[in-house]
Amino acid sequence: MTSPSTYVIIGGVAGGMSAATRLRRLDERARILVLERGDDVSFANCGLPYHVGGVIEQRSALVLQTPHALGARFGLDVRVRTEAVAIDSAARTVTARDLTTGEQHIIAYDALVLSPGAVPLRPDLPGVDRGLVLRGLADTDAIVAAARDARTAIIAGGGFIGLELAENLHRRGIHVTIVQSAPQLLTALDLEMAHPLAQRAREEGVDVRLSSRLATIEERSVVLDDGDILPADLVVLAIGVQPDSALAVAAGLAVDARGGIVVDEHQRTSDPRIWAVGDAVAKSHVGGGDALVPLAGLANRHGRLAADAIAGHAHPAAPALGTAVIGFLGLTAASVGMTERALRDQGRQIRVIHTHPLDHVGYYPGATTLALKLIVDAETDAILGAQAVGQNGVEKRIDVIATAMAGGITGRGLADLELAYAPQYGSAKDPVNLLGYIDDNLIDGELSVQWHELDQRRKEGWRLIDVRTEGENEAGAIEGSELIALDELRERAESLRGERVIVHCKVGQRGHTAARMLRQYGVSVANLDGGYLTWQAGRAATADVVLTKEN
Ligand code: FAD
Repeated sequence: MTSPSTYVIIGGVAGGMSAATRLRRLDERARILVLERGDDVSFANCGLPYHVGGVIEQRSALVLQTPHALGARFGLDVRVRTEAVAIDSAARTVTARDLTTGEQHIIAYDALVLSPGAVPLRPDLPGVDRGLVLRGLADTDAIVAAARDARTAIIAGGGFIGLELAENLHRRGIHVTIVQSAPQLLTALDLEMAHPLAQRAREEGVDVRLSSRLATIEERSVVLDDGDILPADLVVLAIGVQPDSALAVAAGLAVDARGGIVVDEHQRTSDPRIWAVGDAVAKSHVGGGDALVPLAGLANRHGRLAADAIAGHAHPAAPALGTAVIGFLGLTAASVGMTERALRDQGRQIRVIHTHPLDHVGYYPGATTLALKLIVDAETDAILGAQAVGQNGVEKRIDVIATAMAGGITGRGLADLELAYAPQYGSAKDPVNLLGYIDDNLIDGELSVQWHELDQRRKEGWRLIDVRTEGENEAGAIEGSELIALDELRERAESLRGERVIVHCKVGQRGHTAARMLRQYGVSVANLDGGYLTWQAGRAATADVVLTKEN
């Protein structure tokens, strides 16, 4: 009988603990050591902001496992307050330092898994030491303690963690300002899709400063780059993370330009006995090439895959889709894949679809409107990305589209998905099916115009016809549009023969009917994609950028 293998895991949270427990399930005889420099393993990073806000009342609820319990169930040798300080890949050893005693031990391994996570970025500016960050339980304790006496808080960064913290500090009655360097919150979304988040924040009394950065952190205030001074009892830096790959670099492992550890499809690093997973790793991305995608699902999945590979059951990792969701002040925003912005920057030929369906049929009480966006490759119809914002049913649609992407279903193919329906949950044509129908129409030759293309088209001489009702038009219209309500359009269609016309309604659906009709009367016609609602969100988001700059 061969002697049992020794597996060492560095980092005992999402990716590391997935690898460790999976290894045990695959190899009962192995010696498995988990080194974690923090006080806890298996804690719920994703729950931390909600403990700050008191939603998760008990801190202990965030600690999902203890070294003792993991030892009893999985036979793992879990060492907390133990930092891996060096890897000798030639000798296949790790040097571990006990952070309580300062003692160092050398541990030999047959296979090593790195899951050290990421470290929050800290900008280089005066007073930055007063800025708190949120990564682990100790950070959470520090924010909770500082929040006790705080009346004002500045959150630098309007990404996932920044928004979750803003919501939770606001929940505690603290006046929060989000300072965001980009011209929009949540850059995982496109400008017009992210606009409702800033709007909601302001409605709820959370200030948002877009295209703005911290210049200095003072004792009880911050100075922004435009010179504005804002009171700040509490300052949190949530401007992003970078891979915690210093140990890997010192061990001579290959990393990419952003510091992400380079791995193959089985999570194997440039050293054949070392695997790496989680936020520290550069992941093969659906958009092509590698990307840093610091999300929990991928860390867990790749932890399992690394264990499988080590135990001789290798399965390749699928490209990362970056499927993500956030709840923010009553709204939910979710996305998958690439943004329109990123794809246009790459010069990709794409088709973009916006729609604003109800989350469930209108006749059943409680229906709310979603903003839904799909981006497909103009030639192959492959789904490249999707985004959704609304109150209900948001993540369900994005999860369906993420699944479609993983399965290679095209944009048009979304029309054929047979999704569960009853009045309180959806509609017989689910919002995801609608995206497929619209894509089908576009493939069949219907033209559409994006909100950001409208001005240019009008300069080129296209007329803009609003096919909504007079009442809707009076409540808000696009400058220079002519009103011909859909029900009157047939009578006027002949007079438009030979013209170039953009039609629009509220969400794009009546515009589609109008476009089909006018085409048959010899009119060159395009439908304003997503209708007035998308145009309005895009216009308001653009104005927001300008207004913020003027501020
Ligand atoms: P981690 O889970 O961070 O674990 C790394 C561990 O390695 C750390 O505990 C660290 O102490 C330890 N370590 C590092 N170096 C050493 C060393 N040399 N020796 C010993 N130990 C070491 N993702 C989502 O998908 N959805 C969410 O809602 C979500 N919310 C989040 C909220 C917050 C506040 C944070 C911080 C993250 C959130 N994430 C979310 C991201 C998610 O938590 C990470 O993607 C995931 O935890 C990454 O797993 P990992 O194993 O790479 O790193």
